[in-house]
Amino acid sequence: MRPWPVVLVCLAALAAGCTTDAPARPTSTPTGSTMASSPPTAEPAPTPPTPRPLAGRVVVLDPGHQLGNARFPAQINRLVDAGGFDKACNTTGTSSDDGYPEATFTWQVATEVRRRLRALGARVLLTRDENSAAAWGPCIDERGRVGNPGEPGPTAELRISLHADGNLASSAHGFHVIRRPVREGETGEPAARAERLARALRDALVAAGFATSTYLGEDGIDVRDDLGTLNLSEVPAVMAELGNMRHPGDAAVMESEAGRRRYARAVVAAVRSYLGA
Ligand SMILES: [Zn+2]
Repeated sequence: MRPWPVVLVCLAALAAGCTTDAPARPTSTPTGSTMASSPPTAEPAPTPPTPRPLAGRVVVLDPGHQLGNARFPAQINRLVDAGGFDKACNTTGTSSDDGYPEATFTWQVATEVRRRLRALGARVLLTRDENSAAAWGPCIDERGRVGNPGEPGPTAELRISLHADGNLASSAHGFHVIRRPVREGETGEPAARAERLARALRDALVAAGFATSTYLGEDGIDVRDDLGTLNLSEVPAVMAELGNMRHPGDAAVMESEAGRRRYARAVVAAVRSYLGA
């Protein structure tokens, strides 16, 4: 018999002075006939293995910003290559009117997405490993290279950067997904696959009940060539502005655990849809 039932019995019967050497189980029936003790071979049937549809797949999640960025202006304002032009290493990110930081929101959603993807068998690379007021970065160029061919670690099949916007217009709310344009002469990879990834994420967010942006992009998708993380990615990459933190309705969803779980479920659904798993 495995040891844990004995421990449970002992906890329940502590007041009666239970010991593991002398289990309190009766060895005879009320009629007096001797009953064989439980056969030690009576193991429970093995549980079937959990389906792992993403086994062997590699996904990069890039939670935007870092909680301590504002304390390190020299570091985060340093210029880095953003894909043929220079841009600041990083920015502070925005926050809700209540002071809930974008860096914390993106971290919380990313780690929930990671937990769910791992449960499905995927290997998840995060571009930062903490959300700390004592830390800054990493820079956008470093984020864009994680999971690229030739970089340390496995090559990813896709990258999703998670952000939230800080638009002050009262009518501005909803999410939008950003991809970079297909470049002149580009054979279509990975930018063409990024188009498909952007649609998969847009569709999953809509299916999860999130409204597309009222103020940017078209049908929840925007195209930009000024984002270093997307420009430097050699695997299909998109950046999601999951909502507008300055809009009270969007912020309420982001600040709630249930809301963040809903975002996470949608991102996981998009990854599965894109990967055909
Ligand atoms: Zn951001």
